[in-house]
Amino acid sequence: MVKIGVIGGSGLDDPKIITDFKEKKVNTPYGWPSSVLTLGKIHGVEVVIIARHGKKHEINPTKVNYQANIYALKQEGCTHILATSAVGSLKQEIEPGDLVFPDQFIDFTRFRKNTYFDKYGDVQHVGMAEPFSSELRKMMMEECEQLKYKFHKKATIVIIEGPRFSTKAESFMFKNFADIIGMTTFPEIALANELEIPYASIVMSTDYDCWKDDEEPVSFEMVLSRMKDNVEKVKQILIRVIPKIAKKDEDFIKNKIRTIPNFPKPGIMFRDITTLLLDSQGMKKTVEIFYNRYKDKKIDIVAGIESRGFIIAGILADKLNVGMVPIRKKGKLPHDTIRQDYALEYGMDTIEIHSDAIQPGNNVLLIDDLIATGGTARAAAQLIEKLGGKIEEISFIVELPDLLGREKLKPWPVFSIINFEENR
Ligand code: AMP
Repeated sequence: MVKIGVIGGSGLDDPKIITDFKEKKVNTPYGWPSSVLTLGKIHGVEVVIIARHGKKHEINPTKVNYQANIYALKQEGCTHILATSAVGSLKQEIEPGDLVFPDQFIDFTRFRKNTYFDKYGDVQHVGMAEPFSSELRKMMMEECEQLKYKFHKKATIVIIEGPRFSTKAESFMFKNFADIIGMTTFPEIALANELEIPYASIVMSTDYDCWKDDEEPVSFEMVLSRMKDNVEKVKQILIRVIPKIAKKDEDFIKNKIRTIPNFPKPGIMFRDITTLLLDSQGMKKTVEIFYNRYKDKKIDIVAGIESRGFIIAGILADKLNVGMVPIRKKGKLPHDTIRQDYALEYGMDTIEIHSDAIQPGNNVLLIDDLIATGGTARAAAQLIEKLGGKIEEISFIVELPDLLGREKLKPWPVFSIINFEENR
């Protein structure tokens, strides 16, 4: 499940674009981020927007608390960061109004906290050879192509301390080794890399800095007015790319699940997760999604439903550092049990849980591989509640929404990573 952090994003934090719009003030171990966070959804995908320079553009590039900004996005569970900014062009062919997708940076800043690894005894050197996410860059460029916007596929951005602009001598020097010049991409990008959040920038060229004799040297007014003219383009790209990032992420897991028609009986499309289990990257991602969702939820126990539910429940319980409870078909558990009958498509079945497995008040996460009609999960949830457990959520890798299983699980919260719409 993706959650996209957007830095800058002028114009996006508009309730007309974002559904479930909400503002949230957060603090971090590194202090306050630049602005309240705007939370909401774009085309159903969760986004978190932060105004890099504050809501009223009151924080200069040196004073931005980059550590707090990136950490706040991490705290909110952002899986990707898309950053927007304005830059000067150091190349004739990058004209004002063009969009640029930098792939390299050179750091000329001086007064910024640029790492999370600055505590005594915590020596870490993070690789920075390819700091921008090539996948995110590629996806944004595809949108640019479709919208027929002029853009540049590669660029080295030099980041200066500011707030002043460069002298001509500096501008000529930078021109020798960089294509565009800005004040904010670093340390933002380095911090995102340290926290392992894929990061890409979409930048708008607003001026020719001051190296070009036949152009007026850059001024703040020039930057603001050219940004205003072009901000709509950036907005369009973000609105279009965000659902595609989510889809790509979902497809990553979905494509690893095999479908077997007519198993175990005619008419059933069996969604076989054994192929996902076999794929280490697919499993890593699956477990990561569950872990990120529940790591701060004070789960006491993870309960898994026989039999594929055991696998995920076991791994997750280990990661969450809690115990795991198996819920099994009748007659399989050796100690005292309580049982629950439930309806199958034809006839009835029964599941059981050990009567001492859950203590009253335990916060339980219930897991299975797939929700079809929801009957099994409902019976399992009833067993947990009979023992006095509280259900944090009922979670699945796969949901078959046509079968309306979610309805059967009201009033418990339900989560699934992917949907298979076409069914039976
Ligand atoms: P239900 O009680 O209808 O939600 O059924 C859920 C249980 O049946 C889960 O444990 C699934 O593993 C299994 N199941 C039902 N339908 C399918 C399917 N189409 N593909 C794979 N497993 C299924």
